[in-house]
Amino acid sequence: MASALLQVAGVAVSPDHYIGGERVPSTEGFDLFSPIDQRPLGRVAQGLPVHVDQAIRAAQQAFGAWSAMTAAQRLPYLERFADEIGQRADAFCTLESNDAGVLLSRMQHGVVPRAMLNIRWFARHALGLQDRPIDTEQAHHRVRHDPAGVVVIITPWNAPLMLSTWKLGPALAAGNCCILKPPEWAPLTCSLLADAAHAAGLPPGVFNVVQGTGAATGAQLVADARIARVSFTGSVPTAKLIAQAAGANLVPCSLELGGKSPFIVLEDADIAAAAATGALMYRNAGQVCLAGTRFLVHAAVAERFVAAMRATVQKLCVGDPRDAATEVGPVIHPRQVAQVLGYIDRAVAGGARLLWGGGPHPFGAQYVQPTMLTDLQQDDEIVQNEVFGPVLTLQTFASDDEAVALANGTDYGLGGVCYGETVHATAVADSVRTGFIWINSFGIRDLAAPFGGIKRSGIGREGGDWSFEFFCDVKDVVLPKKPFTPSFSHR
Ligand code: NAD
Repeated sequence: MASALLQVAGVAVSPDHYIGGERVPSTEGFDLFSPIDQRPLGRVAQGLPVHVDQAIRAAQQAFGAWSAMTAAQRLPYLERFADEIGQRADAFCTLESNDAGVLLSRMQHGVVPRAMLNIRWFARHALGLQDRPIDTEQAHHRVRHDPAGVVVIITPWNAPLMLSTWKLGPALAAGNCCILKPPEWAPLTCSLLADAAHAAGLPPGVFNVVQGTGAATGAQLVADARIARVSFTGSVPTAKLIAQAAGANLVPCSLELGGKSPFIVLEDADIAAAAATGALMYRNAGQVCLAGTRFLVHAAVAERFVAAMRATVQKLCVGDPRDAATEVGPVIHPRQVAQVLGYIDRAVAGGARLLWGGGPHPFGAQYVQPTMLTDLQQDDEIVQNEVFGPVLTLQTFASDDEAVALANGTDYGLGGVCYGETVHATAVADSVRTGFIWINSFGIRDLAAPFGGIKRSGIGREGGDWSFEFFCDVKDVVLPKKPFTPSFSHR
């Protein structure tokens, strides 16, 4: 029997798994607390080996009929799925704000519309995917993209709804059956996604949610030889474990990981514009993989830039993410707060200078002041490691070559930002080794464009056709142009 629904700020949500079209409770669970004020939100099902097995079986069973449909036949299901997300827009906003501390305003205007688009866009894009013909002297080749099978999707707590739908959209549109393992610090919107899928009439087993901790449930899912793909967004250490487990079965993984991206300000940059964009790096309390967290500023404009950005940051409203005026909300978990403050303390003890911020914010236990550190060496921990909190660093440079060397001088390679005169900024941006870079802008994402990182920031790309490449098996069907003559000496 399904468990009683949790009541979170007036929204009812199931704490159970969703397997084979039904809610499935567990004998074990884990407790949730709101990052806003540490209030308990309830207890969520822990995925046990039996649930992992049940979900894989349900997905395998559903795969035959779902994969046999054309993209046009799958489209109405997925359009309805997007509609049903829209029907629950307020509930999604309330849940993710309370559960993950994301700004309510950002949920309303950014995340929920994007979640709907993630499902709708890929479903429609799949209609245009056609077999690719290759005509040679000998034969007609027809290159097919067939659904791969059972796909495991694992997402992090900083953007559970956005990232889960970003992966579910193409995986389902391509004809796969999915098992979503939500992040244990913020799993509630993923549970509501199951309600939306159910109401949309997705056939049982096509989309499943198995709640649980990463070390137990996540690890069991990715080690199972019956799965065909793992699409993971999260941290580098977890990615290594997942790659090892999936690698043991030769299961392909898409890994979207952390970043330590440069934010370059050239001497010919529009300083006011760069500073205004710079302050956005505190969005989601700095818990954003693609943020430009290492400011590299030309020495000639550094003083002006620091003054302009300080003036903007001083006006930032830190507080309750449910308040319309709030711009910077809480850090997800006491453990993450301790990690963020530890980075600041060690940097200062090592000789770094605080330009602003530097400690807990008086608003509450899980709030950290927007912070900027300078007087740093390239090999300092704070320059090399992802903090994942509202903590930025600033270094200066004297030439483009030095800017590029500093930008490329970490193990990460996710994204970047470059402010400067357009031709100049483009030339510098081209030399920065990352998966993407924004010129005189930040955060422009298009579903058709590839997204992902290089070096420790990940393996593979998702977005547009790249998502379908990953979630499909490529098959070359070969038809000879002339009657085939069997021969042992023929190559
Ligand atoms: P995490 O790696 O700790 O956890 C991510 C997910 O993996 C969670 O659902 C967790 O339960 C699961 N997991 C943990 N151990 C596992 C295991 N052994 N096997 C299978 N699954 C396991 O990351 P996090 O702390 O939740 O998220 C923050 C990280 O995510 C940061 O490094 C951030 O940069 C990264 N991130 C990257 C992107 C991107 O697109 N590149 C986007 C958002 C976040």
